[in-house]
Amino acid sequence: MRVPLLDLKGQYQTIKEEILTVAKEVFESQYFILGPHVQQLEEAIAEYCQCPYAVGVSSGTDALLISLMAAQIGFGDEVITTPYTFFATAGAIARVGATPVFVDIKGDAYNIDPALIESRITERTKAIIPVHLYGQCADMDPIMDIARRHSLVVIEDAAQAIGSEYKKKRAGSIGDFGCFSFFPSKNLGAFGDGGIVTTQSREYCDLLQTLRVHGSKPKYFHKMIGGNFRLDALQAAIVFVKLKYLDAWTEKRQANAKQYRKLFREQGLDQIIRPPQEVEDLHIYNQFVVSVPDKRDELRAYLTDAGIGTEVYYPVPLHLQECFGPLGYRRGDFPVAEDAAQRTLALPIYPELSDEQQAYVVEKIKTFYT
Ligand SMILES: *Cc1c(COP(=O)(O)O)cnc(C)c1O
Repeated sequence: MRVPLLDLKGQYQTIKEEILTVAKEVFESQYFILGPHVQQLEEAIAEYCQCPYAVGVSSGTDALLISLMAAQIGFGDEVITTPYTFFATAGAIARVGATPVFVDIKGDAYNIDPALIESRITERTKAIIPVHLYGQCADMDPIMDIARRHSLVVIEDAAQAIGSEYKKKRAGSIGDFGCFSFFPSKNLGAFGDGGIVTTQSREYCDLLQTLRVHGSKPKYFHKMIGGNFRLDALQAAIVFVKLKYLDAWTEKRQANAKQYRKLFREQGLDQIIRPPQEVEDLHIYNQFVVSVPDKRDELRAYLTDAGIGTEVYYPVPLHLQECFGPLGYRRGDFPVAEDAAQRTLALPIYPELSDEQQAYVVEKIKTFYT
C-alpha cells in the first residue's frame, strides 16, 4: 500500500470542475494581478479569520516581511521568536535588518514558551512573532500580556494555522498582524505561491496595501520603499473556491488525528509514540507530529520502504542554522527545541486519507518497534 504524506491530486479531483471554471474566467479577463478576485478573497478571509481587514500578498514569507515593514521594524531592532519553526519566520526578521532573538518552546505543544520571553526583552525589542506550529495556536494570553506591558508589536505566524482557535479566537485575530500562507501543502493551498495578512487596524491595512505595490500611493508616487508583494488573481480565485471546503477538510483532519490516537492505544503504542498534546482549543492539524523515544530516523527509513511518506519538521532548529552562526548561539541553548528536532516525525493526516491507509501506517510503526 502507498500512503503519501499529502495527496493533492486526490483533492483536486473533487473540485476540478469549479477550479477550471474560475481559471477560465481569469484567463478570459486577462486581469492577472490584484483586482476583483483578490479583493473577494480578502473579504472572505477577513471574515473567516474574524478580522476587519485582510491584504493578499505573494507568499507566507512575504506576509511576514511586509508586516515587519509595516510595523517599521529594521536595523538595530530585536524581534523575539521561536527557534523551532520554518526558516521564513526568522529569515524575514533578518531580512529587514533586525535581529532574531530566540526563546525555547514548551513541551509537546512545540510552540514558544511564554514564561521565557520576558527575560529576553531589551531596550531594542520591538516585536514578538509567535508561531502557531502544525496548526495549534501558541499560548497567546500571556504573550499578549507581555507585549502590552512592553509596547511590543505581535505578528502571528499563522502560516500553518488557518482556522485554528485560541480560546474561541481565530488565529490571526489576536495579535497586530496575522500572517498566512497559501503554499500548496498548507491546509488552504493555492496552485502556486500566495499569502495573506490579517490585521485589526485600518492604518496597518493601508500601509500593507501601499507596501505591496512598492510603497506607491498614488501610482508612481513613492511615499516609502515597499516591494512587489502582490497576490495573483488566478491564485486568489482558486483559493476562494477552496475556502468553502476548508472546514470540511479540517474536520477530516481532526477525525484522522482522533483515529491515530485510538489506533495507538489499541496497538499498545501509546507508551512509545507521543501524539500531539490534546488541548481544548481548535487544532487544525496542518501536520500530525508525533514524538518517538529513539530511532526516529530508522523509523522514518522503515516507513519510507513500506511506501509511507513522513517528514521531519524541522531537523535543525534555527539557532543552529549556519546562516545564523553570527548570532552566537550554541547547541544546548534551547534544549526543548533541540530535543524535538531529534524526536519528531510528521505522519500523513491529509483529509482524503482512508481508514485502511491509517491502519497500515500504525501497523507498520508497531512492527518497527516490536
Ligand atoms: C509555510 C510557512 C511560512 C512561509 O510561507 P510560504 O508561503 O511558503 O512563503 C512561514 N512560516 C511558517 C511557520 C510556515 O509553515
